[in-house]
Amino acid sequence: MTPEWDLVVVGGGPAGMTAAQYGSRANLRTLVIEEMAPGGAVLLISDMENYPGFPEPVNGYEFSEAMQKQTENFGAEFKSATVNSISKDGKVFTIDTSEGPVTSWTVVLSTGAKHRHLGAPGEEEFSGRGVSYCATCDGPFFKNKKMLVVGGGDSACDEASYLANLTDKVVLIHRRDRFRAQKVLADRVQNNANIDVRLSHTLEKIEGDTKVRKVVLKKTDTDETYEEEFDAVFIFIGSDPQTSMAPELEKDDAGYLITDQSMETSLKGFFVVGDVRATPFRQVVVACGEGAIAAHMAAAHIDDIKGEAYAGIK
Ligand code: NAP
Repeated sequence: MTPEWDLVVVGGGPAGMTAAQYGSRANLRTLVIEEMAPGGAVLLISDMENYPGFPEPVNGYEFSEAMQKQTENFGAEFKSATVNSISKDGKVFTIDTSEGPVTSWTVVLSTGAKHRHLGAPGEEEFSGRGVSYCATCDGPFFKNKKMLVVGGGDSACDEASYLANLTDKVVLIHRRDRFRAQKVLADRVQNNANIDVRLSHTLEKIEGDTKVRKVVLKKTDTDETYEEEFDAVFIFIGSDPQTSMAPELEKDDAGYLITDQSMETSLKGFFVVGDVRATPFRQVVVACGEGAIAAHMAAAHIDDIKGEAYAGIK
């Protein structure tokens, strides 16, 4: 059976769209399946300053739009659907989607990771009413107000710096006594007069009425707790990889999918790229590189299948 597509990319972030660009440029019939708007996590970045070739920071939404247009220009198609499962029968993959099944010789999974919740009392209750996981989306609602940022990684530092342009009352708490973030980003928040950095602090509780009013914070070195008024709480404590459609693939301890250096999993023809992949450095530029490698290797895999068919090998 000849499948409808040579390459199906599941997830339309930078990794997936780059795979689709390289796939369609290599003359593969390429489909990108995305359940939301193409762009993935990049859509949430207000100023991306570390993608090569842009001397001025580029807006994540505009970057994603340009990338989609470029991908379509190369001939790839986009489909809006949710992928439920991916299975392989012989050499053909079936991608079961909310809009019906799709078949392909190869799959590139680039489903990324979703923001993690803290589990603090009041977090769910006030979600959308002062509790947020996206500074660029919700920060402007709290201009000149007092905002709490939770987390010590790159996201927390980047987003705190963004919020500090909207108010001079940002408090950043982190549970340990040192940042996980890259030094350049951690230094930036520590040197920002609008950001009050409090290490060794945790968020114990969020309280309010129709919206967030105050929080309970704890100093982890003394176990002392205290209340403080806030208008908003932004939580950036990492993400969970989106792997439910591929439960059988090998994962690392944190649940990220393991590939070889060709981005291929133990299942021939099934590639994984971007933030869902076990990698030491999650960056847009890295994700794009992974997408290019995966598409290149997918084309080689299809050549092998067609060569075998030509030679009469089953
Ligand atoms: P991350 O690197 O996993 O950092 C998560 C932070 O949240 C850590 O500081 C962690 O504390 C803290 N944390 C986790 N669970 C917590 C809990 N239950 N309570 C309190 N704190 C908790 O996640 P990220 O910052 O979202 O970054 C994800 C990936 O994207 C990283 O690879 C990062 O490099 C990349 N990224 C890059 C940029 C950039 O280059 N500009 C921007 C954003 C993201 P501990 O340190 O104690 O573990």
